[in-house]
Amino acid sequence: MKKKAVIIGGGPAGLTAAHELLATTDIHPVVFEKGEMFGGIARTENYKGNRIDIGGHRFFSKSDRVMDFWRAFLPVQGYPAQDEIKLGVKKREEFVSDGPDPEKTNNVMLIRSRLSRIFYLRKFFDYPVTLSKNTLLNLGIVRVARIGFSYIKIRLFPRKEENSLEDFFINRFGVELYKTFFKDYTEKVWGIPCTKIKAEWGAQRIKGLSVTKTVLHALRSVLPKRKSIEQKDTETSLIETFLYPKLGPGQMWESVAQSIIESGGETILNSEIVRIKLQGKKVVSVTVKDRGSGKEESVPADYIFSTMPIKELITSMEGSVPERVHTLAKGLEYRDFMTAGLLLNKLKIKNETNIKTVGNIIPDNWIYIQEPDVKVGRLQFFNNWSPYLVSNANKVWIGMEYFASEGDKLWSMSDEAFLEFAKEELAKIGISDESDVVDGVVIRAPKAYPSYTGEGYDHFSEIRDFCDSIENLYLIGRNGMHKYNNQDHSMLSAFEAVRHIRENLKTKENIWNVNAEKEYHEEKSS
Ligand SMILES: Cc1cc2nc3c(=O)[nH]c(=O)nc-3n(C[C@H](O)[C@H](O)[C@H](O)COP(=O)(O)OP(=O)(O)OC[C@H]3O[C@@H](n4cnc5c(N)ncnc54)[C@H](O)[C@@H]3O)c2cc1C
Repeated sequence: MKKKAVIIGGGPAGLTAAHELLATTDIHPVVFEKGEMFGGIARTENYKGNRIDIGGHRFFSKSDRVMDFWRAFLPVQGYPAQDEIKLGVKKREEFVSDGPDPEKTNNVMLIRSRLSRIFYLRKFFDYPVTLSKNTLLNLGIVRVARIGFSYIKIRLFPRKEENSLEDFFINRFGVELYKTFFKDYTEKVWGIPCTKIKAEWGAQRIKGLSVTKTVLHALRSVLPKRKSIEQKDTETSLIETFLYPKLGPGQMWESVAQSIIESGGETILNSEIVRIKLQGKKVVSVTVKDRGSGKEESVPADYIFSTMPIKELITSMEGSVPERVHTLAKGLEYRDFMTAGLLLNKLKIKNETNIKTVGNIIPDNWIYIQEPDVKVGRLQFFNNWSPYLVSNANKVWIGMEYFASEGDKLWSMSDEAFLEFAKEELAKIGISDESDVVDGVVIRAPKAYPSYTGEGYDHFSEIRDFCDSIENLYLIGRNGMHKYNNQDHSMLSAFEAVRHIRENLKTKENIWNVNAEKEYHEEKSS
């Protein structure tokens, strides 16, 4: 009898774990996914042939292993995509010589150039902010002088302790630049003041970004561009080219799920893990609920890989969970995410860049909406991610993204009311007229962001120690580890968990080391 691993969740982490178990061990993986499709947050929703990528997923990684994994499933294009053909592009240096033709097959990754700008004062600013003529003109001389002085001041007298995200930003950018470009947007994302957010979030998310690096990057950008898609030396926020599955990120994960079945594993949709039974320091079984029939079944397991939110994992455990761990886990916080997908006849805002696009729409993949008079946080322009996400090339397919908290006013709006609200905001900031919106859909993504706030997070090590002490339980992925992990980190944590079993490692430290800067250095040097 083969040993069995129950994998909770069919997102990037869970599917990678199943794939890795099949590739490198004798353990039989069974993936239970509570939703109707694979991919988790990185799934692709399909509305009448128009595809939505929740949040916009760039495929890039400093890890060769991850890049190779992705390319093995969906090889990189060798011929131009639909929009490139329309713009007269025959060949790009980055095309792979024997790569597939996106016009002939769906199994292909496109190489996309990233553009994302900040929309503030009803004007566009570079993202990350550069010291360009455009920035200076848009801000005006008075504001620029204030920014310069406050930056010099903070370099001379930095805040000694970085206790909050506000301290983190101010020490790197100065008070004025922080107030202009970081404060409002970050507070929209988290729904709380930056003074209440831990500096650690900045350290992870923004890593080595600073004014000096921004200036250097601006200088470097006038030099010829590097053509490698790995971009190992580039800060995450500055990545300028990325890979993208022709039909959105979910296509990658549907392909991985299919390969798991072909290799003898199991993947089961609409199946929610509702209880986890512990005996001493081991999980012995889980209870799976069929979301269609409501029927429950107990499934024994030798190993458990969990990508479900830790809060729900702990509260569904039956057995000896310390009261303190239970209380702390209940106190873990999250931020939720809503997208209004809107199909437009046209945009009102004009493309004033020198970048050519089909229909001459603005060339951004997404824009950050820094305007304080609207709630929308970001706008996605799906046409620019992949022309194949849009069913009618003459229309513009956008996603208006909102940060919310389950149960708050925004989250509780009916779909109709939310779409109306989104349309009004779109018109208010001058992106498109309401009369040009022809259709729309609402997608809600609960717990999209594990939050680095609250009592539960302050004492997270206690929750982690308890989970790590359960011998056959592996926490992996984003909500699975309550860590701001991207797809590549989520996958690397799955690789590491399987390695832990394979090599019979003593501690689970190797899994938690993923997405700590140290890991990257090790990877780079190796
Ligand atoms: C707005 C936004 C933008 C992003 N942009 C990028 C990007 O550009 N590039 C990038 O690489 N990453 C990006 N990410 C991160 C990426 O989405 C995550 O790293 C990745 O989806 C995490 O994978 P996961 O498998 O850990 O979790 P998830 O994707 O959350 O998958 C977990 C799965 O578990 C299922 N599940 C939960 N509870 C249960 C249960 N009890 N029983 C059964 N199933 C359950 C869920 O339904 C879900 O499908 C972004 C994320 C967000 C929110």
